[in-house]
Amino acid sequence: MKHLLTLGLTLIIALSIHAQRPNIVLIVSDDHSYQTISAYGSKLMQTPNIDRIAKEGIRFDKAYVTNSICGPSRAVILTGKYSHKNGFKDNANSSFDGSQNTFIKELTRTGYQTAWIGKWHLQTNPQGFTYWQVLPGQGSYYNPDFLMMNGERKRVEGYVSDVVEDAAEKWLTERDPNQPFCLVIGHKNTHRTWMPDTKDLRLFNQSKFTLPANFYDSYETREAAAVQDMTIDKTMRMGYDLKMFASKEEEEKDLSIKRMTKAQRQAYMTFYDSIHRDFQSKKLSGKALVEWKYQRYMQDYLATAASLDRNIGRTLDYLDKHDLSKNTIVIYVSDQGFYMGEHGWFDKRFMYEESFRTPMVLRYPGVRKSGSVNSNMVMNLDIGPTLLDAAGIKIPNDMQGKSFLPLIKGSAKKGRDAMYYHYYENGEHSVSPHFLISTGRYKLIRFYTRVSGWELFDLEKDPSEMKNIYGQKGYEKVTADLKKKLAQLIDQYEDEEAKKILVIH
Ligand code: CA
Repeated sequence: MKHLLTLGLTLIIALSIHAQRPNIVLIVSDDHSYQTISAYGSKLMQTPNIDRIAKEGIRFDKAYVTNSICGPSRAVILTGKYSHKNGFKDNANSSFDGSQNTFIKELTRTGYQTAWIGKWHLQTNPQGFTYWQVLPGQGSYYNPDFLMMNGERKRVEGYVSDVVEDAAEKWLTERDPNQPFCLVIGHKNTHRTWMPDTKDLRLFNQSKFTLPANFYDSYETREAAAVQDMTIDKTMRMGYDLKMFASKEEEEKDLSIKRMTKAQRQAYMTFYDSIHRDFQSKKLSGKALVEWKYQRYMQDYLATAASLDRNIGRTLDYLDKHDLSKNTIVIYVSDQGFYMGEHGWFDKRFMYEESFRTPMVLRYPGVRKSGSVNSNMVMNLDIGPTLLDAAGIKIPNDMQGKSFLPLIKGSAKKGRDAMYYHYYENGEHSVSPHFLISTGRYKLIRFYTRVSGWELFDLEKDPSEMKNIYGQKGYEKVTADLKKKLAQLIDQYEDEEAKKILVIH
């Protein structure tokens, strides 16, 4: 009897310890813009499931990234460190050193079951997880291959966001229910080339979208914006991006289409063939052609977002159904924002708001006020430290991010007063490397390598960042203060490359 009592007490203690350690589901999408999420006021489409996280939790209106590009962003989230510290600076020449510490390793070490399932895009295999199953490279929209922990490469039939969610649910079902877990679901959607699920092809086919006011930007006063190669007009390709192949032979060569099943391909090509016929009959050119491209881009992009949102709903339903919602933190975040025709662009990279900022919503068990909006400046750098804080684990000293848990719990009112950003890649899309400081109101940018020079924006007066006011009369003090603060941040984050450029110029 005494023995049973001791056993019972031990069990109660063990259970209460576990009850205090929250589970974590971190959903990371790819290139999903806040402009297309209804929780952020978008009228372009409805995203009921992302909205549900916001309604039951917190919407972050000033969530930003430190380097607006796919692989580097994931490396920053994992390590809580800037790209120059974690070594993964760009998609072109970097591969992630998986032997370094990550917030995941800290969780695994302290008894969490940890998994990354879906898009990973860090070149090397994941390390420090109890389970992983990732898409190789960019992954495929249809019938994607997965790299498995045992070294196998496995093709799974279906649409990518569905099969990633299936794998995530399978792992949740098979995990040890007596241990807390941290699951990262990496979605490929809404990455280029925006191939919708066959059932979503017609969702926005009849919609006409209003062009952003600065769609025909002529880039005056902004040299780096003028030399980029990411416009819907000149860069977006008719075949590769918009599925308007010049010939059946060209279509045959498209690897994404090649891997479809017969039924998938038939449904897919029936849809695009009819659009193609209509397009050819119109004989468009000039602005009419650019605007046609914009409409098709939006229609396909939003259709891939619909599948993403639907599968986020499946995750939330799974947690509800298995009584996990009350003890699970859910975060939805994109790896960066994206241009939906602003400045005439698609893609990301620049530190103008559309790609510097990222959507982020969070549901935290026991948060006092659901549906709240947080307007503090937080960064993807902070996600790891925040989750460690929530799990009661000491944040390693060399992590550069800051926990925003006090902001969630209301024990702190104010976050950082300035943000530091550094983009390195000098390749595809011809975006010049640059670093910057943003205080929310002002943004001071230093371009180097491809383009050399400063840009200054007053976001209160110029929220679309159309007018570079660097060197203009009246901004001397603002500029001097920003430069001083920028130098401080570069020092604080130990960014030697930026330091050298500041000294030279
Ligand atoms: Ca991305």
